[in-house]
Amino acid sequence: MDVASLTPRLLLGPGPSPVSDRILRAMSRPTLGHLDPQFLAILDEVNEGLRELFGTRNRTTFPVSGTGSAGMEAALVNLLEPGDKAIVGVKGVFGTRLAEMSRRMGAEVITVEGEWGRPLDPDLLVATHREHPDARLLALVHAETSTGVRQPLDRVGAHLQESGTLFVVDAVTSLAGIPIEVDAVGIDVCYAGTQKCLGVPPGLAPITFSPRAVERVRSRTVPVASWYLDITLIAGYLGSERRYHHTAPINLVYALHEALREVREERLEARFRRHAEIGARLQAALAERGFRPYAGPENARLPQLTAVHLPHDRAEGPLRSALLEEHGIEVGGGLGPAQGKIWRIGLMGDGARQSSVDRLLGAIDNLLREEEAA
Ligand SMILES: *Cc1c(COP(=O)(O)O)cnc(C)c1O
Repeated sequence: MDVASLTPRLLLGPGPSPVSDRILRAMSRPTLGHLDPQFLAILDEVNEGLRELFGTRNRTTFPVSGTGSAGMEAALVNLLEPGDKAIVGVKGVFGTRLAEMSRRMGAEVITVEGEWGRPLDPDLLVATHREHPDARLLALVHAETSTGVRQPLDRVGAHLQESGTLFVVDAVTSLAGIPIEVDAVGIDVCYAGTQKCLGVPPGLAPITFSPRAVERVRSRTVPVASWYLDITLIAGYLGSERRYHHTAPINLVYALHEALREVREERLEARFRRHAEIGARLQAALAERGFRPYAGPENARLPQLTAVHLPHDRAEGPLRSALLEEHGIEVGGGLGPAQGKIWRIGLMGDGARQSSVDRLLGAIDNLLREEEAA
């Protein structure tokens, strides 16, 4: 195989999303050293851009070297010590992953479980915290990519600010697609990924720690179990000392820098509107064709990730394969209890365009017509 001969696909799955030519070009710029003043200037600009995107003034804001799951692990491993209590909302794959990671770090995990495809009741989360006011953290997934559900955060954020419990939010699929306001909501640690609504290849996990979260890490009694993800060590590189910790993924940082420029040029508000409008159009067009939404209620459906049952509950696999093989379009299948039952269609970043919707609907109509004729 030769990578030069790979067939491009239209990436309309749950990530990675399409990467613009502009970002691919930025990535192909000469690799510099991680201590080169030119690169450090780029990295500083990236961290400043991420603060804007997260809606935060947190000093400790940077891209973790690793995918979204590395961001998740960085959040938990820095905050949790063995024996700590962690309250985790679970109603999909990524909440399940948060709970599993917390357990591996020796935490006592209290899960608040809900039906897949529905948001968790904020009152139930607050009530659970009242039963466990000594919990170290409460973690929620904002945009649950396995189900297409948006989780409300405001009430829990306001409640936790009055307590000693830190609020951890997974914004992997939210960042740059739907509003996420870290400081206004009262989020202590928020992490994301680059390959969803930012349209950068996978490999970086933007993350931000509030001053009280940083204080918590400083006052731990046992060292952070992960040397690689320890933010007190990484701070030595990000700060004025510029002490080597690990080699930054230089060319990926270029890509993120370019994506942040794209966001600034488009303006964040306009970008959110684009995601909202394009997602709504796809959802309406699929309903006309007999696809049934998996996520609900309507106001909890994410525009950037549409989860649907196929018409007449037909098998989803063959049609999904035909989309890829015959039309070059990738969509995702279901996970967990929804495996084999749904499609997950991502309209993220550069994929959130009318042209994506048109191409996908054209291909679906074509395949369904061929089937009827057969
Ligand atoms: C994609 C995703 C992750 C994991 O990110 P990876 O880049 O696959 O490691 C975590 N949480 C959510 C909500 C996601 O959508």
